[in-house]
Amino acid sequence: MSILYPEIETLSRDDIKACQFEKLNRMLDYASKTPFYKDRLPSKIKSFSDFQKIPFLSKNDLRDAFPYGLLSCPKENIVRVSASSGTTGIPTFSYCSKNDLNDFTRNEMLHFSHTGLSSADTIQCMTAFNLFTAGWGCYQGSIGLGATIIPCGPGNTQRQISLLKQLKPNYSFSNPSYLQYLLEVMTKDDFDNIELKVAITGGEVLTKEFQNLAKKKYNIEVYNFYGMTEFATHIGSECNYHDGLHINEDYLYAEIIDPDTGLVVPDGEYGELVLTNLKREAMPLIRYRTRDITRFIPQQCACGRTHIRMESITHRIDDMLIINGVNIFPSQIEECIYKNLDTATNYLIRISNNKSLKKMQIDIEIPKELLDDKMQLKVLEQNLIKSLKAYISITPKLKFVSCGTIPEIQGKTSKVIIE
Ligand code: ADP
Ligand code: ZN
Repeated sequence: MSILYPEIETLSRDDIKACQFEKLNRMLDYASKTPFYKDRLPSKIKSFSDFQKIPFLSKNDLRDAFPYGLLSCPKENIVRVSASSGTTGIPTFSYCSKNDLNDFTRNEMLHFSHTGLSSADTIQCMTAFNLFTAGWGCYQGSIGLGATIIPCGPGNTQRQISLLKQLKPNYSFSNPSYLQYLLEVMTKDDFDNIELKVAITGGEVLTKEFQNLAKKKYNIEVYNFYGMTEFATHIGSECNYHDGLHINEDYLYAEIIDPDTGLVVPDGEYGELVLTNLKREAMPLIRYRTRDITRFIPQQCACGRTHIRMESITHRIDDMLIINGVNIFPSQIEECIYKNLDTATNYLIRISNNKSLKKMQIDIEIPKELLDDKMQLKVLEQNLIKSLKAYISITPKLKFVSCGTIPEIQGKTSKVIIE
């Protein structure tokens, strides 16, 4: 698979660091003149360790500065407004100037090129074209690469399936949960009449189990993309080796910190991802705490790209459930379900309070044949309970339901209900 910007994507690590250092200094010089940053930032650093002394920026800082407190260019230079889905509170807003938007297109072309997307391909975009940035990223990136985009937006599943059958796109772009749902409701006849080979997903945790299942059961290669409204672009994307997501280090400087101490962790260790814009006019973010947990993969990727890889995000700090003193991430439960029950199509975690004790029930959708086979189901249930206990140290109640019982997912939703 060819590399779109070899002069950038295959630079030596030393050259990448040198470029980043220069750009950081340019960014500090620019940002330290703005009202928001003038008392927070030095205008120059002498080393990366100087950079590590700069205070972090949090989602709450962005909320406090709403609407225009973080703006670093005249308001009339803004050409696009974006806002996050507000999964963990009030949505955060983000702005782009015309130059930022040109960089956005370039960044998105880089990420989408990692999947091999080119002018020979057609992509069905199943995410919204609204305040979210993901749909626009797919739009600008695909068009920039000369691919054909079918911008149908989310939901309306029967229409999505008709378009897949009529126009025969070979790529799709959606949240992983919507892709999962779509593949579940498609019939054999639908599968016989489509040419979907690559599904790009982002916005939510994508598990390796689902990625493997999609390949094995549907012959669809799923690529993981990671992005965030605050940066108004995708940040990392998998290449065809599917071993971590390459961060666009031409545009972003990435650090991993210990969320408790705020100190940068040794290379390869897990911690919270902290990102800094190396370029951006309207709203540069400097040392922004993403709340997402990951680690860098220090070895070079077999694809030849030298930009650092981060492991897929398996959880964000805010997702953590504390059940009777045990810390649990929903992604651990998902991993466990699909490992034990590869015919499961969907699930929902229900947490309820019984006096002061929290109880967990997991509703799991399974095919009718299995639901009717009481003996086999009993064995599977016992195995899954055993495995969940080993994974998350608690024993949830399981409820098996028929496919289609758990409501259709549109957009980003949590797989957890607190009752
Ligand atoms: P929010 O969900 O906070 O309202 P966004 O809609 O901008 O904000 O979503 C960004 C967040 O979504 C990221 O910080 C991360 O937690 C999550 N996310 C995005 N892409 C992925 C991915 N590929 N894997 C896991 N989590 C992701
Ligand atoms: Zn690679």
